[in-house]
Amino acid sequence: MSEKIEALKAEISAAKAKTQDELEAYRLKFISRKSVLGDLFADIKNIAPEERKAYGQSVNEVKQLAEEKFKELIAGLESSDSGGKSSAPVDLTLPPNINLGTVHPLTYIHNRIVEIFQKIGFNVADGPEIEDDFHNFTALNFPENHPAREMQDTFFIESNPDIALRTHTSSVQIRVMENQKPPFRTLAPGRVFRNEAISARAHCFFHQVEGFFVDKNVGLVDLKQTLYYFAKELFGQDTKVRFRPSYFPFTEPSAEMDISCNICKGEGCNVCKYSGWVEILGSGMIDPNVLENCGIDSEEYTGFAFGMGIERIAMLKFQVNDLRLYSENDVRFLNQFKHLS
Ligand SMILES: [Zn+2]
Repeated sequence: MSEKIEALKAEISAAKAKTQDELEAYRLKFISRKSVLGDLFADIKNIAPEERKAYGQSVNEVKQLAEEKFKELIAGLESSDSGGKSSAPVDLTLPPNINLGTVHPLTYIHNRIVEIFQKIGFNVADGPEIEDDFHNFTALNFPENHPAREMQDTFFIESNPDIALRTHTSSVQIRVMENQKPPFRTLAPGRVFRNEAISARAHCFFHQVEGFFVDKNVGLVDLKQTLYYFAKELFGQDTKVRFRPSYFPFTEPSAEMDISCNICKGEGCNVCKYSGWVEILGSGMIDPNVLENCGIDSEEYTGFAFGMGIERIAMLKFQVNDLRLYSENDVRFLNQFKHLS
């Protein structure tokens, strides 16, 4: 009998488990209820009474050995599963290695713009990205077949050309003016779509912020002062501003606004094409036709509107020279904005 026990001990000590199957085979043979040890315990009734105590002790030794070996085999298998790394104890006092991610640069600029205008009483409005012709063009003074419609290459729906992906967030201005009563001091940020070939300088979608202010006695001086305040808040108090006459169907008069180049401080660099100025937004006094289209008396109310591209502002602020980077989800790009969060 003791020979059988010694043989079992030797077998247990030499056991190896390189796979889960081998581990299971070991468990069945030495650990489970139907293991060889069960047979040994059952044999106890065949042992002479005076030898039973010693026998029981040696069977228990085998059982203990089998269990210890089993733990050892499990540990060995786990460490080889994790690429053979040593099972060194984990130091729980070390700081956790968690990559928290960052605010997207466009989200950051969007939030900054909203914050700046909220300080002077603007609220934020939202509207649909799928628009009808009236809200995207007609109400904004783009007459049928007017060349102005060709200024913006539009994604129309083939089966229903009255439906399009909005080309600007000015459509939100119409929706707000239709449904609410003046005065308005509203900001409409959102995604817009143009049928453009994708390149470093153009994309088929980008983000705009449109803003408008309608009340009694709103004049050009309010427009200039509001945008001047905005440019200084966003680009720094030493920022200079200039307006250049321009044309938009929905404003009259219209103007593009430039700021002094924030990179070279007006000295001239390749971003400002050595002019010292960079264009950041379009603006103007809302055309009376647009107010009338929304049921607002243009004799009583006047207003101004402005619109800017969030990507464009972010490009100037962070000196990003390729528009495509914003939507590629490349963490090497996004990680550079960690300081913003
Ligand atoms: Zn410059």
